[in-house]
Order: sequence, then structure tokens, then C-alpha cells
Amino acid sequence: MDFSLAHILAARRRIAGIADATPLVPSSLGDRFGAEFLLKLEIVQPIGAFKLRGAVNAIFNLPADVAGVTCCSTGNHGRGVAYAARARGVKAVICMSHLAPTAKIAGVRALGAEVRIVGQSQDAAQAEAERLVAESGLTDISPFDDPDVVAGQGTIGLELLEARPDLDTILVPLSGGGLAGGVAVAAKRINPDIRVIGISMDRGAAMHASIQAGHPVEVEEVPSLADSLGGGIGLRNRLSFALCREHLDQIVLVSEEEIYRALQAIYYEDRIVCEGACVVGVAAVMSGKVQLTGPSATIITGRNLDMRVHADIMAGRDVVLGDHIVKGHRYEP
Ligand SMILES: *Cc1c(COP(=O)(O)O)cnc(C)c1O
Repeated sequence: MDFSLAHILAARRRIAGIADATPLVPSSLGDRFGAEFLLKLEIVQPIGAFKLRGAVNAIFNLPADVAGVTCCSTGNHGRGVAYAARARGVKAVICMSHLAPTAKIAGVRALGAEVRIVGQSQDAAQAEAERLVAESGLTDISPFDDPDVVAGQGTIGLELLEARPDLDTILVPLSGGGLAGGVAVAAKRINPDIRVIGISMDRGAAMHASIQAGHPVEVEEVPSLADSLGGGIGLRNRLSFALCREHLDQIVLVSEEEIYRALQAIYYEDRIVCEGACVVGVAAVMSGKVQLTGPSATIITGRNLDMRVHADIMAGRDVVLGDHIVKGHRYEP
């Protein structure tokens, strides 16, 4: 599938005024890391996460007579689609399973979207979205495997390189690869020598397993502190797999214990509250898995987290993730 910097430049014009250009701020962790370390704060987007960029770009690029949009997401993508649809004045139906937490359902409803609750799994919710496409002519907005979505996320790469043309490395949280693919295309078209590293948790890293296998594969989804990075890349992936395979210099995996410590570090050192998914880049450097070789940036992708879990981690308590216990650890600078 054809995808280029021109898509990302067009996305920037389309999303301006709805999704924000976000601040890039220095982290005090840079002293410890031996290089300047910058944080791109997507947590200040109106929905608290970068996914608004891709959703706005996709929904504002639909024809004027569009019947409405749908998607299956309990997380940041569902919020982004709901917000963007309201901004464009089109109907949105977000499909979720009965397992979706009530707070997340309420969050999406508060953005004006209809929530349809079906079945006991993500697959059942996806089947409902597909039924709405077939029966009501709604357009299904993919969270990562759509050129307009990838282009929207890629605008972060433009902003990073414009603010800091001297960036040496960008560390990107990686799940379905829409973010990493878009950011890598933008950054490397501007500076072909820049290093772009994707980072996932070591339990259920679908893009990493797929690139190793040479084609999209399924992985078992298990609970993680980086819950926004869970889920597959789609066995019929059209775009994000190819972009990540071609443009990422490396994929690094971090453990739940490393994510736990990185959440503490970014809170105690930089006073930032964010999801586990955001700190995988911090965790990769803290653990020594990535060495910084010049000014570097990571993307603090979202802040829609369970504050009780966050409070437990800040207090150094154990966190139970299904059958895995992340051992508590008091923060020491
Ligand atoms: C979706 C998401 C990611 C990963 O983005 P992909 O495009 O799926 O790789 C990272 N962090 C947060 C908070 C997200 O919601």
C-alpha cells in the first residue's frame, strides 16, 4: 500500500485545531541517562491520548454523505473516534464486550457516542462492528491499520523533528504499529540517519513476534501494566506491519518489573502521571537495553489509567496481573 510523507503533511492540515500540537519537555532522567532526554506529552490531548490524531484525520477525510463510523475499542481509540465523530457531527457507534469496565463505557458515552455492548470477548465486539458496517453502512475505523490513521499519528514525528532537528533517537511505544510506523516515516524522510526504536512489553508483543516470523502472527494476550499495548496486529494486516518492518531500526521488549520502576521514576522525578504503555521507552533506557547516543525523545502516549493501580505502584505495593505478580518495590532515586 502506498504511504508517504505527503499523507502526513496532509494530515497535519486536516487535524489542526481539533487535535493539538503537544509540548516537548526535558525529563530530569536525562542526567542519569547521560544524554538529553525529551518527553512528547500526548497526555495533554483533549482525550488524554495521541489516538485522537489518527481518528480525526480518518473521520475528517470521509465523504460528506458518510452514514457514520464505528470501531471496537475499550480504550484510547474508542475515545478518539467518539471525540472526532462529535467534532465532525457524524454518528459514532463504539462496540464493546460485556467485559468492558463501566468507567470506560461511561467515558465514551460522555463524548456523545452510542455504545453497543455485545458478547464476552473483543472478537464478539469486532463482529458487531462488522455487522454494523454491512447492515447500516457505517465505516469501521481501524486503530492502527489504515493510512489515514497512520498519517495522523505520524504528525507527532513532524512536530518532533521541527522542534529538534538534532534528535538522534526516538523511542516509540509499539502495539499495532500505527504510531511507530507513522512517526518513523515522518522522521526518516526528514533525517534518514535518525534511529527509531519500537518498544513493547515482553508478554504478548504481537508486532515483534510477527516481524521475527516474517508475517503477521497471533500472540496470546495477557494482562500487562502496559494494557494499551495489548492485542494483535491483524492476520490480514495491510500497512502497519510493512511500515514497522521497513522503518524501525530495532524492537526492544521490557518486563512488567521494568515498566513498574519506570512508572515510579517518571512520577517521582518528573511528576508525570501516565499509563504503563507510555513508559516502555523510559524502561528500555533504565534497564540498559537501549543506550542513548545523543539527544533523544520518547512519546508519553496516554494517561487513561486505573488510578488505584497507579497509587499501589507509587507506594511500592505488589500488583497482581492475572497469574503474574509484579513484586512491590519502594522507589529509590
Ligand atoms: C494505542 C496506544 C499505543 C500504541 O499505538 P499503536 O499504533 O497501536 O502501536 C501506545 N500507547 C497508548 C497509550 C495507546 O493508546
